[in-house]
Amino acid sequence: MTTDPVLEAPAPSSAARLPAPRGAAAAPKAGEDRVTPMMAQYVEIKGANPDSLLFYRMGDFYELFFEDAEIASRALGIVLTKRGKHLGQDIPMCGVPIERADDYLQRLIALGHRVAVCEQMEDPAEARKRGAKAVVRRDVVRLVTPGTITEERLLEPARASLLVAIARRKASEDAYAYGVAAVDISTGAFTVTETTRGGLGPTLARLDPREIVLPDTLHDDPDLAGVWREIGAPLYPLARDGLDAASAQARLEEAFGVATLDAFGSFGRAEIAAAGTVLHYVARTQIGARPALRPPAREDGGGVLAIDPATRANLELVRTLSGERTGSLLAAIDRTLTPGGGRLLAERLSGPLTDVAAIRARQDAVARLVEDAILRERLRERLSSAPDMSRALGRLALDRGGPRDLAAVRDGLAAAGAVARLLAEAGDLPAEIEAARAALADLAPALEARLADTLAEDLPLSKRDGGFVAAGVDPALDEARALGTDSRRFIAGLQARYAEETGCRTLRIKHNSMLGYYLEVPAAFGEELLRGPLKGSYIHRQTMSDAMRFTTLELGELERRIASASERAVAIEHAIFADLAAMLAGARPAILAAGDALSAIDVAAALADLAAERAWTRPLVDESLAFAVEDARHPVVEAALAREGKPFIANSCDLSGDGAGAIAVVTGPNMGGKSTFLRQNALVVVLAQMGAFVPAARAHVGVCDRLFSRVGAADDLARGRSTFMVEMVETAAILNQATRRSLVILDEIGRGTATFDGLSIAWAAVEHLHEENRCRALFATHFHELTRLTERFARIETLTLRVAEHAGQPIFLHEVVRGAADRSYGLQVAKLAGLPPPVVARAGEILRELERTEREHPRAARLDDLPLFAAPVRTAPQPPAPKAEAKPDPLRAALAALDPDEMTPKAALEALYALKAAAREGGSGS
Ligand code: ADP
Repeated sequence: MTTDPVLEAPAPSSAARLPAPRGAAAAPKAGEDRVTPMMAQYVEIKGANPDSLLFYRMGDFYELFFEDAEIASRALGIVLTKRGKHLGQDIPMCGVPIERADDYLQRLIALGHRVAVCEQMEDPAEARKRGAKAVVRRDVVRLVTPGTITEERLLEPARASLLVAIARRKASEDAYAYGVAAVDISTGAFTVTETTRGGLGPTLARLDPREIVLPDTLHDDPDLAGVWREIGAPLYPLARDGLDAASAQARLEEAFGVATLDAFGSFGRAEIAAAGTVLHYVARTQIGARPALRPPAREDGGGVLAIDPATRANLELVRTLSGERTGSLLAAIDRTLTPGGGRLLAERLSGPLTDVAAIRARQDAVARLVEDAILRERLRERLSSAPDMSRALGRLALDRGGPRDLAAVRDGLAAAGAVARLLAEAGDLPAEIEAARAALADLAPALEARLADTLAEDLPLSKRDGGFVAAGVDPALDEARALGTDSRRFIAGLQARYAEETGCRTLRIKHNSMLGYYLEVPAAFGEELLRGPLKGSYIHRQTMSDAMRFTTLELGELERRIASASERAVAIEHAIFADLAAMLAGARPAILAAGDALSAIDVAAALADLAAERAWTRPLVDESLAFAVEDARHPVVEAALAREGKPFIANSCDLSGDGAGAIAVVTGPNMGGKSTFLRQNALVVVLAQMGAFVPAARAHVGVCDRLFSRVGAADDLARGRSTFMVEMVETAAILNQATRRSLVILDEIGRGTATFDGLSIAWAAVEHLHEENRCRALFATHFHELTRLTERFARIETLTLRVAEHAGQPIFLHEVVRGAADRSYGLQVAKLAGLPPPVVARAGEILRELERTEREHPRAARLDDLPLFAAPVRTAPQPPAPKAEAKPDPLRAALAALDPDEMTPKAALEALYALKAAAREGGSGS
């Protein structure tokens, strides 16, 4: 072992995290177990970032070593090589060139990896000054994780990139409050909300996070495992230290210069804890850089239509069951023209409102732009060239911005100005548009002018080599640049003079990276120069086979001037860049507000455009419990049919019960259109409450508080939820949670088990919805027996999908009418689907036999013998079991009153002493 400190093996703690060398360890030869200084540095840095792939900067590459190299080479399909040895074993290595690093990062992040980017923190020349063996100083400057990316190429333009933190605090003796904080570091958006255990799933599903951070206690809580699985976003558990109340306060104070979130509104303890956690994680991943976050805005969870993850997935709101955007409701209605508008539309679709006034305000904006087609067209024309100002500003704040980000702000500001002018001429405006106009008018015109005057026409991607500042902006810059142009002329002059002086007409001035500028003459002339009277001024540099190369003092001087001029020019450009970035940072709130205003106008105009073209109408939204739509369509199915040249049959639906919701039991053959009908009504609710127009001739929607949609097991294989158990868990959630204000859609519940089980469960579920939940509901079923429920319950009606028959074949008319289906046409559908003819024939025989038995002993008649119509639906809840403990235990009470999450270590210790003392006194522990 060497005693040289630089070459010593690293401390065991970091060495232990190093992947063990592969294979049986042959005894290393003397000296082979040495760790080079660079490897020691690598091991130390990797040791501090054990859960990330380490991108270790070496010159123009990021290199990965050991297991990281193996993982990355497999994931990225790049060559795995070797570099030197570590503890006697080859070190696997692979590398990615820095200019392509973004692409590789994107792929690794998409695959669920985290990447620590380790840069060289000094010029290698600096390191060499410390000695030949010294390694360049390196440090991790950033952790790239799914929720903290800012690069344009890594982000989806029309999707927010939310990092969500969750915290939990005791709200009462037996309930917790969950704080949910969401930041988008690409735009600075920051929201905080509080919810309950039951509300956690819907809240997270609405936010659609890219990454979730949470204390490890929540991560490991078995009660929450289902929520995490359902959301499906990558989770990152954090150790508890640093997540206490005091640290959260300190972080908020530091980030926003306030002592508590109260400065921005009233926040609960769980919300503050979540906000602190999210800031903690941002600081941890961004290291030195500070994203410019907006002050946190509190969202009132009660103001949003609650849609749980299963319903969201089932209705395919923002993506289809298979995870794609194409085919979703969002894709079908998205006519926005700006990335910010696209994100706002998705946000509104994911979180429809429940506040009637707020919904109507949005409708007013859409209605105005439906009526005024000329204004709409003009606005849309201007919006189409508005780039993503918010994300450009986000990158600039993190010092990851380039010249094109400045240009994005310039063009965004130009669009903002133009839109403001159009709106100013438009006369009276509805409140939402007027607010947007005011925000746009607030922008100082000097900002745009300064950017426009400063930036060159063609902009490089990176600011590194300059070239983005226009000519005429800065005299010193112009002068430095002029030297480049002038030097060519100057060299031509010099060449002519030297040619004359030496009498060599073929003398040329050339340049290469080794010699810099030099002059070249034929060898014979060279010999003369070496000997002749000019030998003092022509300095020999190189002899080639047929030529000789010289330099002069003048050329050397020129060389230095050109190099220093280009350095000077780049430095001046960097200073100008910093100036512009600082100017924009100062105007950030106004620019972000203008960006938001453009997004709001974009959304209103996009929805208006859609409504105008497709004849969608403004729904009447109020506080009633009505749900009445006339001639409604399913926007996605309609579009799909239109592509095949087929018409969509519009259908009406009325679930407005008398003082409480009504229930429609929908029967009809497979492929008749039941699912489509059910979903289109749910989508009308979503569209109406997000403030959009709806695909119906007329619609009246009493606001819903929650929307539920479930599909029986057989239809839900795409989500891998095929078990009957899951179907029942979901049905239970609905029966337990739906209120009179809810809309419930149940498609073929009870299908996943034997006929009688299924029928019984479906029957009882409908009864419960009618008697207990009293919500509005649509219930599609193949149990025709359920249609008999109308006999007992006034607010249940039956609907069916009409079928005509032609030559023994069913023709599905997709028309919803009152009544019950008489046949299911299963065999006909099976035949159409290509079941072998003998199987269809045999099935026909069996069916006829079964139908004969049924005629002789009808099941429907047997139902009358069952206690179905006799037994009242149970409505009275069971009285709670009497408490086992008669006398409250003071020690228990004292323990229950403690909230460990909120205590400082000192307070915790004191509490422990107090408890021990109480135990001694009361003697109740024995
Ligand atoms: P079910 O749930 O009754 O099996 P679906 O709702 O899945 O039926 O509809 C089956 C197919 O019928 C759809 O894919 C669509 O092509 C067509 N369809 C459904 N509803 C309509 C309608 N209202 N107008 C035209 N075609 C429809």
